[in-house]
Amino acid sequence: MDAARLAARINLLGPVLKARFGGPVAKIGLDAGLGCPHRGPQGRGGCTFCPPGGAGRGLGHLSITRQLELGYQRLAGRAARAGRPLPRLLAYFQAHTSTHAPPGVLAALFQEAIAFPGLAGLVVSTRPDCLDPPRWELISRLAGRLPLWLELGLQSAHEPTLAAINRGHGLACFDAAVAQAKDRGIEVVAHVILGLPGEGLEHTRATARHLAGLGVWGVKMHNLMVLQGAPLADDYQAGRLTPWSLDEWSAAAAGFLARLPRQVVIHRLVADPGPERLLAPAWAARKDLALQALARYMQEHNLSQGDACPSAK
Ligand code: SF4
Repeated sequence: MDAARLAARINLLGPVLKARFGGPVAKIGLDAGLGCPHRGPQGRGGCTFCPPGGAGRGLGHLSITRQLELGYQRLAGRAARAGRPLPRLLAYFQAHTSTHAPPGVLAALFQEAIAFPGLAGLVVSTRPDCLDPPRWELISRLAGRLPLWLELGLQSAHEPTLAAINRGHGLACFDAAVAQAKDRGIEVVAHVILGLPGEGLEHTRATARHLAGLGVWGVKMHNLMVLQGAPLADDYQAGRLTPWSLDEWSAAAAGFLARLPRQVVIHRLVADPGPERLLAPAWAARKDLALQALARYMQEHNLSQGDACPSAK
């Protein structure tokens, strides 16, 4: 019900992919075991919100083919139980920084995924500062062969916030990567976090306006969560950080969406943490309640994506 109410107001990824591929599509998240250049001996300590495992699910020791097989079995089982057709598959190089390897190594990993039977496309998630000309060349070549989009972490369009979360790159770096991708006709999805330390409604809205100006294809929204092992956990436990309430988040998310053009594809509205690693806020463990709150807020305020975006008028 909430999904239907939200779909009427937001340009959600599911219907967009269904129209593009002519049926249901599902991503299989992959961990290529590449790690993150922002961590380790050569790194600068990692982002403060990111726990040691990042977005990985500990599968980095398995081959790409094996991870795709496991993902496919899971999806096939789910489809059979629900009496639904099997979705087409997208290989989602998701964990850590998926361009953090020499281009030859990356080419072999991506090729292994492409060879998986029935694969419909590739998704590559990375940092904007981990893309040099040879990597751009590789990604462009692949994008000429099959559907592909690039996911780039931004988190916030505010330099002080980027410094405070130890992002390790500035806004200009992200903007330049988006420009490079657009020059090559590659679709970009920006990752943002709503509720970062020191940010309020105005910061969130300004980040949306910045992304609207850049002309990104999609946006993946996360709500700030304090996860076990992330540097932010120390701030939270010492009382230096109070995550947003559900009401604060839903107002900010609605305002953010209202400032994005209607054609921007929303890949995610709220994050889905494993309950075992979530410290706060408690409401983040209930994605259903978060979506309900957002749907209610948008309905009560009669807001839809793009309503406060000048280019939508
Ligand atoms: S969020 Fe991404 S870039 Fe930042 S530390 Fe985690 S894996 Fe590295």
